[in-house]
Amino acid sequence: MADMQVDVAIIGAGPAGVAAGIGAREAGAEDVLVLERDWDLGGILQQCIHPGFGLHAFKEELTGPEYMHRWIERAHKAGVAFLTNSMVFKMESDGSLWVMNPEKGVFHVTAKATVLAMGCRERPLGAINVPGSRPSGIFTAGTAQRFVNMEGYMPGHRTVILGSGDIGLIMARRLVWEGARVEGVFELMPWAGGLRRNIAQCLNDYGIPFYLSQTVIQVHGRDRLEGVTVAGVDEKRRPVAGTERYIACDCLLLAVGLIPENELSRMAGVDIHAATGGPVLNEFYQTSRPSIFAAGNVVIVYDLADWVSQEGVAAGRNAALYAAGILEKPVRRIEVRGGRNVRLFSPQNIVGSGDVTVYFRVLRPIEKRCRIFAEPGLFERRQRYVRPGEMNEIHLKGAALQALPETVTTITLDAEEV
Ligand SMILES: Cc1cc2nc3c(=O)[nH]c(=O)nc-3n(C[C@H](O)[C@H](O)[C@H](O)COP(=O)(O)OP(=O)(O)OC[C@H]3O[C@@H](n4cnc5c(N)ncnc54)[C@H](O)[C@@H]3O)c2cc1C
Repeated sequence: MADMQVDVAIIGAGPAGVAAGIGAREAGAEDVLVLERDWDLGGILQQCIHPGFGLHAFKEELTGPEYMHRWIERAHKAGVAFLTNSMVFKMESDGSLWVMNPEKGVFHVTAKATVLAMGCRERPLGAINVPGSRPSGIFTAGTAQRFVNMEGYMPGHRTVILGSGDIGLIMARRLVWEGARVEGVFELMPWAGGLRRNIAQCLNDYGIPFYLSQTVIQVHGRDRLEGVTVAGVDEKRRPVAGTERYIACDCLLLAVGLIPENELSRMAGVDIHAATGGPVLNEFYQTSRPSIFAAGNVVIVYDLADWVSQEGVAAGRNAALYAAGILEKPVRRIEVRGGRNVRLFSPQNIVGSGDVTVYFRVLRPIEKRCRIFAEPGLFERRQRYVRPGEMNEIHLKGAALQALPETVTTITLDAEEV
């Protein structure tokens, strides 16, 4: 196949990539191409058949596939081109792409601007050092979600879930619906990793026990999983002797975190933020390589797909403006930093003159009245709580940013009890 030349190329057709395609076309880009390695469009939301999507984007509660169907229809109407079964396996520093497709073979895509929308993947067992053998029956929660919701297989009948990320909570309920027994969800930290609404709707409503400050310390079984040993942990997350308990099970699901998928970004020399694991961005969703933009879970793990779509539209729009040579030029550079209770945030740099939305997650929950703020004196809001499982957003006024003295080169986000 001949090399392709487009205005905007987008890697990934999940919520971020589909929305970026729409944003790019609506901002005037002629040729917008989305490359997707899967055979179908929709990204992870294809397997999320539970409701909970679209409350912000459509003011309706939709399942993942219903939610994506609406965005994909809008993208087709906007004139976005899609190529499925197309794996991007290499990206150059100018954002041009090498792609493999079973029918078209290997081909090269040159774009005036490229949007990274590759999503994230789950942290596997190897990343968390649980002692014991490696029998069958141990899955990440997302793999089990795909088996049950798309392939029609049950991963097991008696399940323990390690970690309280949202996918694990959702799968606890899903397995109960399919007739399995869920022995409990075990969370290493003294607080939940997922959304409060998922604890209520997926665990409490089904009588599934939820244990904080407990973890799996041993896996048992040779060929097939036979059980796990769980134990309480102290404040340094070390198992406490005497608290061990054996639980018979044939399935262990892991919901222990998501990692932005950035092998291609690194290959292209894009700067990666140490805490988020995603590209360092400015408020235009632009990476350290000016023609490369990014949106969605490839940047920072969002709590709701609705925000991912919203950010995708904006990233696509800015990529189209860059391709047309009309993206606002930097006026000054202000670095965003996390304070004592903030680790994950995006964007990390502010360079333009307009208003900016900054997303961030706290390290520790504050269950009392608290204030979230951006220093020096740029933003303050009081709210009832902050929790690590939920994304916070703050809106900074462009005029206030521009009014900062030249000597101010950083702003700091934080959340504290009041
Ligand atoms: C396993 C899993 C289960 C999840 N379940 C839920 C859930 O139940 N509820 C919920 O609200 N959120 C869930 N999430 C979070 C969910 O990922 C986000 O809400 C949302 O899907 C993020 O959108 P995205 O477009 O950034 O990424 P994704 O939806 O992950 O889309 C990324 C797309 O990029 C494609 N891609 C990646 N690399 C390449 C490449 N090199 N070449 C071509 N294409 C590529 C992928 O195939 C994929 O289609 C889950 C996440 C994971 C990882």
